[in-house]
This record gives sequence, C-alpha cells and structure tokens, in this order.
Amino acid sequence: MSPAPVFDKPKVELHVHLDGAIKLETILYYAEKRGIPLPANTVEELRDIIGMDKPLSLPEFLAKFDYYMPAIAGDREAIKRVAYEFVEMKAKEGVVYVEVRYSPHLLANSKVEPIPWNQAEGDVTPDEVVFLISQGLQEGERDFNVKVRSILCCMRHMPNWSPEVVELCKKYRQQTVVAIDLAGDETINNSSLFSGHVQAYEEAVKSGIHRTVHAGEVGSAEVVQQAVDVLHTERIGHGYHTLENTTLYDKLLKENMHFEVCPWSSYLTGAWKPDTLHAVIRISMQPSPASFQTMRKRSSLTDCTRPIRYHSQSLNCQSDDASNMTEQDRKNS
Ligand SMILES: [Zn+2]
Repeated sequence: MSPAPVFDKPKVELHVHLDGAIKLETILYYAEKRGIPLPANTVEELRDIIGMDKPLSLPEFLAKFDYYMPAIAGDREAIKRVAYEFVEMKAKEGVVYVEVRYSPHLLANSKVEPIPWNQAEGDVTPDEVVFLISQGLQEGERDFNVKVRSILCCMRHMPNWSPEVVELCKKYRQQTVVAIDLAGDETINNSSLFSGHVQAYEEAVKSGIHRTVHAGEVGSAEVVQQAVDVLHTERIGHGYHTLENTTLYDKLLKENMHFEVCPWSSYLTGAWKPDTLHAVIRISMQPSPASFQTMRKRSSLTDCTRPIRYHSQSLNCQSDDASNMTEQDRKNS
C-alpha cells in the first residue's frame, strides 16, 4: 500500500531527468522489440537491477544507464513515447508545471561522437531527438493538462557536444525548450572552464536562453563559483557545497539565486551523510528561492512526493516548508 501523501497540493518540478523517469514496462517493450539484451525479463527484476534506494558509487550508478539506455536510444518511436509517458506520469502525480531535462546526444546514434551506449551507427541525430521529444511533450501537454517545458543538457565530460546543444536550444525554443544545463561528473577538474561549455553558455547569454548548472552537489564551492562567474548561470542544481564559502553563499542569497535542491538524490549520490545536518536545512531557513526536487536520476521507483516525504521525516522539517517552496516555484515559473 502506498504511504499516505504528505503533500497533496498542485506541484511544480524544475529539476527532473527524463532518462531517469522512463517506465520500466517501456524499457522491456523496446528491448524485446529491438532484440536488445537486458539483464531482466520482468518489471520486478528490472526494478531490482536498475532501481536505486541506497547510495552507490559513480561507476555503479553509471552502469545502470548502460543496462537500459540502449533499449531507447536511437529509436524514434521509443524516444517520442518516453516523453509522452513522462507527462502522463507527472499528471498522475499532481504536477501542474514541469521542466524536464535530458542530453539530446545521449539518445542519438548519428552525428554524435562518440556514439553512446555502444550503439551501431544509425540515422537519429541529436537534432531529431529534440524534435521527437518536443513532440511527445507537447502531445502530453494537450492530453494530460500539464504545462511542460524542457532543458537541454551539456555533459561535463563532452565539451565538444555543447556548442550544438545551445544551437538546439535556439532552434526549438518555441517547442518547449527554455534553457541549457550542464550535467555529469562535476568532479572532473575545472570542467566548467572547458571551452566548449564556456562557448555554449556565452552564446546562451547572447541569445536569451536561460541557464542552469549542476554544481556543488558533490563538487566544491569552487564549482558553484565557476558556474556563476564563468557560465553565468541563473539557477544552481543542488549547490549544497556553496555553504563552504560563506562569502559566495551570502552573495548568491543577495542576488536571489535559485537552488534546485533534492535531499533524496543527495542521499543516493552520497552528497549528504545522514548523520550530519543537511545543507537544505540551512538553505531553506534563508529567504532564498530554493525548491525541492525529485531528480529522478534512475528509473521510475518513486513518485514525486517521495523526496518531500523524505525531507519531512528524515530531515525533521515540516511538510509546510515543502509546500511553501513549491508555491514559490509556481510563482517563479
Ligand atoms: Zn540533476
């Protein structure tokens, strides 16, 4: 039986990864249809293998994507369907506005170097991935009455993809795309300074594309500083380690920087150790426009109230805090 909802008001989600929110049934369906081997034959087995409810190392975490992304990447029907089903899922969770993010290159099998997931070369380009996902999201918006926007991710270890990412943001800005993001392993030394990323974010500023950056989740306050100073980010994905630099934190508070925080995700990635005071407690006590998010870095094991429940119980806060923050998101969106 599902636990009683701790938060049953309309929700806004600003930080959720499409490739972590794919229905397990859909993964099984396309793996079978396309003859792609999976380490599981049923939803339950697949949930056991690619689901996540305890902290993992980075290689363990990345291995989960290796299992299921080949079932979806490079297939036009699958790519559009996961976008459409994502909106359906959000409607069921009571979400009224969502910004979903993904890397176009990680779903492509053509004009992408290197081709991800050991796929053979095909004819689905990053450009067509954005076209298909935008179509799926827009059809979902119409059918499920959820307002949907999308964010295109650059990947920290692939700066050569980033200039195309910002061009795709510009090309598809009328078709749900509202911002650029930088995701991936933020412990790669000085990756915010890689010229491909810098060039893409400079073009985003010039073209009026909004900007967010994953920073300060497992990386240091320096990564946050670079996201602000070099990449001109307008929101910070996580940002917990900002607190290590009080000058920077005070400056960002004054500038009304928005922190997209996710206690559940920070537990899973080891960014937060459960025996310590969580950074979100300090952040949420300040008048900063932070928001609680689900992240969905892995497959559909939780609904979006789980982080709020986790926040309320494990971090000893009131669900009203989450309610206030979500209401704030709605006003900001
Ligand atoms: Zn994220």
